[in-house]
Amino acid sequence: MPPEIIESVSVTPIPSSYQKELGKNAYADNRGTQWLEWVVRAKSSSGAEGITIANRFMRQGTVAKLLEFLKGALLDREIDALLEIQNGVVTGPAPGMERWYRRNGWLSILAFDLAGKTRGVSAIDLLGGKKHDSVPAYDTTLYFQDFLVPERGALQVADEAAVAVADGWKELKIKTGRGGRWMMPEAGMRRDIDVVLGVREAVGPDVKIYVDANFGYDNHLDLLDQFIGEVTPANIFWFEEMITHDVDGYRAMREMQAKYGSKALLTCGEVDRNPISEVFQDMIDDGLIDGYQPDVVSHGFLGWMEIELQLAGTGVRSIPHNFGNGSFGTFASIVFGAASETHVSLEDERILPHFLTGQPDFINGAYTLPTGPGLGVDIDEAGFAPHAKHEFRVEA
Ligand SMILES: [Mg+2]
Repeated sequence: MPPEIIESVSVTPIPSSYQKELGKNAYADNRGTQWLEWVVRAKSSSGAEGITIANRFMRQGTVAKLLEFLKGALLDREIDALLEIQNGVVTGPAPGMERWYRRNGWLSILAFDLAGKTRGVSAIDLLGGKKHDSVPAYDTTLYFQDFLVPERGALQVADEAAVAVADGWKELKIKTGRGGRWMMPEAGMRRDIDVVLGVREAVGPDVKIYVDANFGYDNHLDLLDQFIGEVTPANIFWFEEMITHDVDGYRAMREMQAKYGSKALLTCGEVDRNPISEVFQDMIDDGLIDGYQPDVVSHGFLGWMEIELQLAGTGVRSIPHNFGNGSFGTFASIVFGAASETHVSLEDERILPHFLTGQPDFINGAYTLPTGPGLGVDIDEAGFAPHAKHEFRVEA
């Protein structure tokens, strides 16, 4: 059999739509109703196609630079020369590929997809096989919705939480940290508390609630202490980025937790661009965090395989960040989560389906696993067609 070669690569910016308008978070203004997925498609000589998104690259990149990068990384390359695979499991980059994946972990997801599709095996198996039969997911769209509908205030967030639960969601994340920028610190803390308690009241005791402040309590440990004290009776499952990663700050948070009897996980790490970097490693070594959150697509499957090797035995669980990765991110996260022993929950933007096939079933708050080869998803050509005029392609 002739070797499978990558014969064409293309880039297409495709907007993805949220189910509603998303408001502010602690540091950024309104997110709006849409975001972009920089879709990368790579076709092999037999017609197999690997998919990923290059959102990380395109934060500073241009289409021209991205195409040049993809040409060097993929074009004319044998699919067997993308990944090192032993006994059906990926063990690392194939020789010569390290430099292409190093700052562009998202590319490794395409490699898993193509390798899986040409071998007829799931990327879950390439990652070492499934550890769970489904992947729980949480609604991550409860932004500062109170600013969008000021007359409803905190109740607006509670209303939207109730809608999410009616839609089948059993886990929700609430953005907090209003006093970091958009309100006076104390008033912001008060609103944060009203929002969290209001959501708990609206959704009942069985829904898991996560709280994310995007560092909104920096320099206000006194207010954070009060916040943790008042929301702890609402049974919070994790506190994310309440303050910037820092050993002393997280030690102080552990003391607050002990004082109020909070069993919540402390999580952070989505901003770690070179995981696991020193301060995070220090916090892990000192037992100050319980969940680590570098982005699932930016770091990709190879990046996360390395992260999990380093986390092994620490008790710190994998909770990859996924916000901004759109519909592709959901599929990538399901595959990664299925194969990760310590995975907690998938961050879901609940993008309306548009350019990918095979929307996974969402049952009892969890996604069922894909059954097809690779990521188990393909481009839906009918959904892609309206965007094809913005597709740029290089061919061998
Ligand atoms: Mg976050």
